[in-house]
Amino acid sequence: MTQEKPVPAPTNDSRAFWSNCSHNNLVVQRCRECGTAQYYPRNVCASCGSSDIQWVESAGKGTVYSYTVVHRAPSAAFSKDVPYVLAIIELAEGPRMMSNIVDCDPGEVSIGMDVEVGFEIRADNVGVPVFKPARRG
Ligand SMILES: [Zn+2]
Repeated sequence: MTQEKPVPAPTNDSRAFWSNCSHNNLVVQRCRECGTAQYYPRNVCASCGSSDIQWVESAGKGTVYSYTVVHRAPSAAFSKDVPYVLAIIELAEGPRMMSNIVDCDPGEVSIGMDVEVGFEIRADNVGVPVFKPARRG
C-alpha cells in the first residue's frame, strides 16, 4: 500500500504561509517597525518584539546554508525519494528555511550553491516549498 507524504497542518500563525504556497507563492513576514524579515511565521517580530508584521512576497531565491543527504527514508512515504537532500536555505530576504533540494544529484549540492523555490504538491493540493538549482543567465 502506498503511503502519502504528510501534509502541513496550518496554525493561525502559518495559515497565510501555506495558503500562499498552494498558489506557488513563497512569502515571509516582514516587521513594519524594524524591517527585519522572518521565517517561521510568528505573531511578533523575533528581532524587536513588535506585533506590527506583514506578509511580503519572497523572491524565492537563496543559497544553501547547510545540508545533509538522507539515505534511510523516515517512513514508507519517502522511500522513493532516497537518497535526498535535506537543507537549510538562506533566503535572499535573510531568513533561513529548512527544505529539500530537488532536481539535482545529491552529490552535486554544495554549501553556497544558488537555489530557487518550487513547490511539491501533496494531498489536498497543499504546496510544500522545495528548492532546485538556480537557472543560469
Ligand atoms: Zn521588528
